[in-house]
Amino acid sequence: MTKVVLKTSVSHGKGVFACEPITQGERILTFTGPVWNSAQADFSTYHLQIGEDLYLGPSADLDDYVNHSCQPNGGFDDGLHLVALRDILPGEEITWDYGTAIDEADFEGFPCQCGVLSCRGQVVSFRHLPGAVQERLRPWLLPYLKVKYFGG
Ligand SMILES: [Zn+2]
Repeated sequence: MTKVVLKTSVSHGKGVFACEPITQGERILTFTGPVWNSAQADFSTYHLQIGEDLYLGPSADLDDYVNHSCQPNGGFDDGLHLVALRDILPGEEITWDYGTAIDEADFEGFPCQCGVLSCRGQVVSFRHLPGAVQERLRPWLLPYLKVKYFGG
């Protein structure tokens, strides 16, 4: 059923890789896990911001291990479904742009090592991205950010 597997990535430890061809627009996987507010969240473990004060904790499944890229081959479409932004070949690492989910005022960011030519150098909150980048990411934003910045 699933066309992706967990493997060790040269660039950032564990990652999720295609093991079969994936067609542009196809759903790759869906993010799941316990829903936390910031008081409940365990920020020392895997978590994904999904709302102003809402987080998705670890599912212990593949979705916990999808790495960031500034030029990803995956993006969120219609909620927490990661879809292929282009055709993906077996062996390619699946990535998404963390800027399409994170939007914390106090997120310090971390250095990006995605390695693409257009790498922004730093993974930061959506609010701290340049306007042109925000506009480019718009179609793949989590719903709460689409509503917050673009009215839905
Ligand atoms: Zn990068």
